[in-house]
Amino acid sequence: MTLPTEIDKFSNWLIHRTGKCLIAGPCSVESEEQILGTAKELAQCDVKLLRGGIWKPRTRPGSFEGIGEKGLNWLKAAGCATGLPVATEVAIPAHVEQCLKAKIDVLWIGARTTTSPIAVQAIADSLAGVDVPVMIKNPMNPDLGLWIGAVERVRRAGIKRVVAVHRGFSTHIQHKYRNQPLWNIPLELRNRMPEIPILCDPSHICGTQQYIASISQTALEAGLDGLMIESHWRPDLAMSDPGQQLSPAQFAELVGQVVRNSVVVSKNRELGNLRREFDEIDQDLISLLGRRVSILRQIEACRTEESGISHKTRATICATRLMAAVLKQMPATVNHELGVCASDCLQTEIRTGNARKLMLRSEANSIGVSITAERPA
Ligand code: PEP
Ligand code: MN
Repeated sequence: MTLPTEIDKFSNWLIHRTGKCLIAGPCSVESEEQILGTAKELAQCDVKLLRGGIWKPRTRPGSFEGIGEKGLNWLKAAGCATGLPVATEVAIPAHVEQCLKAKIDVLWIGARTTTSPIAVQAIADSLAGVDVPVMIKNPMNPDLGLWIGAVERVRRAGIKRVVAVHRGFSTHIQHKYRNQPLWNIPLELRNRMPEIPILCDPSHICGTQQYIASISQTALEAGLDGLMIESHWRPDLAMSDPGQQLSPAQFAELVGQVVRNSVVVSKNRELGNLRREFDEIDQDLISLLGRRVSILRQIEACRTEESGISHKTRATICATRLMAAVLKQMPATVNHELGVCASDCLQTEIRTGNARKLMLRSEANSIGVSITAERPA
């Protein structure tokens, strides 16, 4: 496969003086006043690129699907007024054409589009011979191959300035985040394509303002190259993704707290990344076991004592299965002990310093399993 050998690693187009790239702007361009007002406030916050969605790929019909082509001129005008280059999402070749006509500086391919190789190829074909930077979000599902494939398709069209954006993954496991970060996937992309800068989009990972600072911090500590954060001058009034957008003042605070402080390269980056992966596995395990217990309760409610096996037998089966599930996921250093627990609820992880104790309960109240994992300092 022939790929362009020269990849511009932000060298003179998006690098921030902290060494990290900062992109911000509203989820959607909504009006001339909204994008200009937001841009003016963000321009004071070290932002390098103003983002704003024009065509919004919404999961369900009926919600705000973007202002459409007329918003391109508002976006570009807001960029010109503030001296910021501007970026928007393209999902079909017609979007590419309209963006190029409106002189949009940077395009991005959204997560839903990256999931479809045919859609990505159509966009790549429409980019042939064009010198515009393209950012490629990870696909919705945790499939590194699709993400790499999208990067390859765009590079094969001759685009030299390609950036990957990590925005988390949709999985069947319920999580506190809207999309699970699954940090090992962007880090594996880095191993496989070290020449491609990778930004993190904490807004779409978190789905709420609450965790954006901590995800941003983690991304930078993990060695990603910058952040794309949704910011709206009146987040409460936003027509899409209101819960996850920061006001420009909140964004400025985040830049102050997180970005400047975390530019220090961590000596223990590899260890940190392994710990994050370990934590993600624990979270999945706890979530799955919680679901399992709740299903078991429903099964119990459907069965009478006469028709089913005895409580004691069910408890034993449950305890051994829990134990087997946990031992499969845990490293060899795990110590475990069988014990009797007083309550009948599933316990989560308890941390004391570096010690992590994972308490797992069988459904019946007579038998419990307690597993203790110690972490080295
Ligand atoms: C967006 O950036 O507004 C967006 C729709 O993102 P994603 O493709 O990551 O869902
Ligand atoms: Mn959004």
